[in-house]
Amino acid sequence: MIVALKAGTTPAQREQLVNWLAGMVTEVHVVEGTSCTVLGLIGDTRRIDQELLESLEIVDSVQRVSEPYKKVSRRFHPDDSVIEAGGVKIGAGFCVIAGPCSVETEPQILDVARRVKAAGADVLRGGAFKPRTSPYDFQGLKGEGLRLLSEAKRATGLPLVSEIMSIETLDLFEDVDIIQVGARNMQNFDLLKELGHLDRPILLKRGLASTIKELLMSAEYIMSGGNEKIILCERGIRTYETATRNTLDLSAVPVLKERTHLPVIVDPSHATGYSRLVPPMALAAAAAGADGVMVEVHNDPERALCDGPQSLTPEQFAELNGRLRKLLAAMEA
Ligand code: PEP
Ligand code: MN
Repeated sequence: MIVALKAGTTPAQREQLVNWLAGMVTEVHVVEGTSCTVLGLIGDTRRIDQELLESLEIVDSVQRVSEPYKKVSRRFHPDDSVIEAGGVKIGAGFCVIAGPCSVETEPQILDVARRVKAAGADVLRGGAFKPRTSPYDFQGLKGEGLRLLSEAKRATGLPLVSEIMSIETLDLFEDVDIIQVGARNMQNFDLLKELGHLDRPILLKRGLASTIKELLMSAEYIMSGGNEKIILCERGIRTYETATRNTLDLSAVPVLKERTHLPVIVDPSHATGYSRLVPPMALAAAAAGADGVMVEVHNDPERALCDGPQSLTPEQFAELNGRLRKLLAAMEA
């Protein structure tokens, strides 16, 4: 961390600041220039509140040289992390997660599960606890939904991903291979801390208005608790654009791949909100270097209890998966 002091700072003021900082880092290196003085802080600067420093009268500017996240940083772990979940390796090859927004009935989830499996999906998704904007909308089948997902897992052999909203329900997730933290809970720090104590893969979705750095800091919360099995998901962010449900920030994929060793997948369903936009953006995600995609698939989108307009039919999913495989093969060639 580099702290530039304002011209006119007195030696006494500088000494007071240096002494205070020295108590927090390994070394404070003082570089005296002709017009101003710069302090180079060496050591672990995570405990230093950048904004507090910036607010001091004698401080001109503060710059971080290293990122505030450590464990998720590629700097500390240059190789890609591969996350194993129910026999599937995420981060080694392209992973396709598919399934309905919500688990609705036994025939629905079994039918979708069988058909996405036949079309080549690697993991089955399905929400049992749904974070809905309106309290009057379908909230998910909760425990019963997770029981039906287990049935679908037994029927198809597909590992499961499902969203948790409260740590109190964790016991119900015993059979869930990957626990999802949805966009709305990306900064639910108490939840992240609890998930950090588990030995289970976590799919962490980017918040609706969160920066890439904030997403990485949330991953750092989980990892600092000991759980290193994290998969990141770009799912679109809120912008002024209204033609799509969100704006898919595809550049987040290469940026994240630069900054972290964790696998990065893309959810083109919630990003666009329209089923016709899902295939082009799923293909674009693969081309951008994502480790996989998560797409919503429903056997009867028009009657879906949640997110029907953005859900592919199983036939559309099969076609997309075929195109994805061709694109990935062409990229390898
Ligand atoms: C979901 O994947 O079911 C979901 C609710 O997505 P998000 O949290 O990205 O809105
Ligand atoms: Mn959905």
